[in-house]
Amino acid sequence: MIKETDNEGNTKYTYPKCKACGSDKLHFKEMSEKAIKAGSAKEGFVTGYEITSGIIGDPDILKGLPLGSETPSIRVVTDICKDCGSLRAVMVRTGKEIKQLVVAPPTIHLPGQN
Ligand SMILES: [Zn+2]
Repeated sequence: MIKETDNEGNTKYTYPKCKACGSDKLHFKEMSEKAIKAGSAKEGFVTGYEITSGIIGDPDILKGLPLGSETPSIRVVTDICKDCGSLRAVMVRTGKEIKQLVVAPPTIHLPGQN
């Protein structure tokens, strides 16, 4: 495990090898490299099996917090080991998110639409 912390309080944990078999080969990572070679993705593109992120807290309390509040946040990237098939974490980033005003884009009504 590689742990990196930035000066904004975010910590990134990277897991380069499979805990079950020790392999560093990953299905989605290798397919990302093939996508770059095929021209369907830009250099440096990497995706995972699943990418999840969100803030951590009780939804009823979170919606009542004032703008500017800091809430713990997490982002997780998983992939599938090419050698043993294990679903495993590749990267976990923990940090905080500041509650901001979300402005919805304006709705345009065209003639003939409701
Ligand atoms: Zn494995």
